[in-house]
Amino acid sequence: MNKHNLIEKAYQTNDLSKGEIIFLFESITPEEREDLFSKAMQTKQAYYGNKVYLRGLIEFSNICRQDCLYCGIRASNTKVKRYRLIPEEILACCDKGYELGYRTFVLQSGEDLWYTEEILSALIQQIKRRYDAEVAVTLSIGERDVETYQKLFASGADRFLMRHETASQELYGKLHPTMSFEDRRAYLNALKGIGFQVGAGFMVGLPGQTPIDLAEDLHYLKKLHPDMIGIGPFIPHSETPLGSEKGGTINDTLVMVALARLLIPDSLIPATTALGTLHPLGREMALKAGANVVMPIITPTSVRKQYALYENKICGDDHPEDCRYCIERRIQTVGLEVDLGRGDSWQFLSNA
Ligand code: SAH
Repeated sequence: MNKHNLIEKAYQTNDLSKGEIIFLFESITPEEREDLFSKAMQTKQAYYGNKVYLRGLIEFSNICRQDCLYCGIRASNTKVKRYRLIPEEILACCDKGYELGYRTFVLQSGEDLWYTEEILSALIQQIKRRYDAEVAVTLSIGERDVETYQKLFASGADRFLMRHETASQELYGKLHPTMSFEDRRAYLNALKGIGFQVGAGFMVGLPGQTPIDLAEDLHYLKKLHPDMIGIGPFIPHSETPLGSEKGGTINDTLVMVALARLLIPDSLIPATTALGTLHPLGREMALKAGANVVMPIITPTSVRKQYALYENKICGDDHPEDCRYCIERRIQTVGLEVDLGRGDSWQFLSNA
């Protein structure tokens, strides 16, 4: 089939076979890419209009018990200066974020068990009670047992981000010596069942990853039907075993973002910081390829650079207010508008 027809098919039916995805991904021309991005953008407009949702991202601890081969804060990296924000410091970040207009706080960290269920529950409850307008709390803290997830949801957490990382079982196994492919998927299903708005997603350009794996990622996501889908390029970090590998490319990542928009049209898709790191306009390009969320960092400037999942991460010297307005300008330059509401997913709103 002609590739423009394939893109049209994806646009009309929100469906492509794995073979069709692989064919498109491997042979897409710059002109066909523009067609793909424009159809993805139209699909995003149909569900979410001109709006781009902002989330204030608080990277509250870089201490991690896991040892993912790609990640700069893996347990084995002894060169990282570790930090942990105490609940009062996290609340101060939320105050700053609230003042800047954010109504979603994303609490992200390595897998740091210092934050017990009790500490996290108390923190979530405090955030939910603290402000006049309603705010949403998103957790991105990795794997805990299902009972803990239930308690955190009961304490008021609204959303949970946990990328599936890759849908290839073999590749997942190689990259995650301390984790299990089946567990990761079981946790994602459990989080959904508990009632969280769930975010899954994957990296593009992982060493050994094939177009077949990427097609599988999209099919897995279509089946899981998460509320949010995070897709970013793999960026090597020199203090990891993958330090001298090649990273993902901007074009491959954008094609995956656009295909995710066409295949799972009602999802929230962030223009990721990793894309902004790979190219100065990477996030704008993602917004023009179907993304509709940006997560500006509100982590205190004093510890930002220590949350280095990959190197040269942008905004390391910036302050929360710099990021807030920088992002707004970037969104406006591509003709879109900031929406400071909670920004719930379509799926969530239609089930409510
Ligand atoms: N511990 C949490 C948060 C992980 S960090 C969890 O397990 O969910 C957030 C995401 O950063 C990861 O899911 C991974 O997809 C991405 N990431 C980590 N290292 C990266 C790298 N070197 N390049 C690009 N993305 C990376």
